[in-house]
Amino acid sequence: MRSAAGPGDDASTGTRRLFATAPEAVTDADRHWMAEALREGQRAGERGEIPIGAVVVLDGVELARAGNATIAERDPSGHAEVRALRAAAAKADTHRLVGSVLYATVEPCVMCMGVAIQARVARIVYGCTDPKGGAAGTLYDLADDPRLNHRIVVTAGIEADACAELLQRFFRARRPPRP
Ligand code: ZN
Repeated sequence: MRSAAGPGDDASTGTRRLFATAPEAVTDADRHWMAEALREGQRAGERGEIPIGAVVVLDGVELARAGNATIAERDPSGHAEVRALRAAAAKADTHRLVGSVLYATVEPCVMCMGVAIQARVARIVYGCTDPKGGAAGTLYDLADDPRLNHRIVVTAGIEADACAELLQRFFRARRPPRP
């Protein structure tokens, strides 16, 4: 977890502090919006989609929320984060969501981080990490790459167990029973 105070660097030592968010950096609002994102993830799972949810918040107000819909929409870009950011931009009537916070139950992938960067999202709060595809600190760190023209503050690990459990339950239910 990284501190909301900065993009993950400890100025005093110059060392990187990935996954070291101080508990006080997590607000009640973060917990509230993550619970809403979890609800969207749950709904996606009930539709047979991978149960990941996302909410976009600006100045404490929800702009949009969405769950995964790649299967129903026959859309490989139909991840919860992309769908939520698209809807948020439509609602805000601008393609730039400057100052917004993206809540996602799972660490966003390369595509979703790309869209978040394009949207100029200020902060991403996610639940569990995705070691096989996460692009906000684990497999890649597109939130804090000096070669890119935008940085995003990341707070990870909010309701991580609930977010991971939602995924695990979904895949467990789909695994064929052992002979
Ligand atoms: Zn994604």
